[in-house]
Amino acid sequence: MNCPVCQSENFGAAELDAGLVARRCGACAGNWVSGRGYWHWLQSHGENLPERREPANGSAAPADRQPKLCPECHTAMFRYTVGHGLGFGLDQCPACKGIWLDADEWEALKERNLHDDIHAVFTAPWQAEASREERRARLEQIYLKRFGADDYAEVRRVRDWLDMSARKQELLAYLTDPDPWGV
Ligand SMILES: [Zn+2]
Ligand SMILES: [Zn+2]
Repeated sequence: MNCPVCQSENFGAAELDAGLVARRCGACAGNWVSGRGYWHWLQSHGENLPERREPANGSAAPADRQPKLCPECHTAMFRYTVGHGLGFGLDQCPACKGIWLDADEWEALKERNLHDDIHAVFTAPWQAEASREERRARLEQIYLKRFGADDYAEVRRVRDWLDMSARKQELLAYLTDPDPWGV
């Protein structure tokens, strides 16, 4: 077995959670979880834990890197964005369904109760939402830079207020009319 990150062959066992044993790279501390091991753990783990939401920190997963190779069957793995404010992705082997987690990613997922949603991260709806979230985060950075933090906070407040109003169109027309008093 070769580590998909650092190529080390030095793997040991690591218990990620009660009943979930991963193979951990001795060099980079990444974890390899078999698809079957994950499902087995998921079933014994009980009810899905509600996500602990945190304000998004605007971090996005690093852009496409070279695909990692599955340490088990050497297939190029697919990369999935976790989103939900977590700035990393997960790799899954499309052939043997094994899951690669870089060092500390399991702990980061568990902190947010997302460790029992890894199978959901690999689905199209989750990925679509993660892309939307990334776009929002990117635009947010652009607006912040353009307006500055104070103006951006204010224009956001006004925008939210407009969105809530039944008179949104009239209010907008007033706001954008260069001469609302007709003088
Ligand atoms: Zn490694
Ligand atoms: Zn594989």
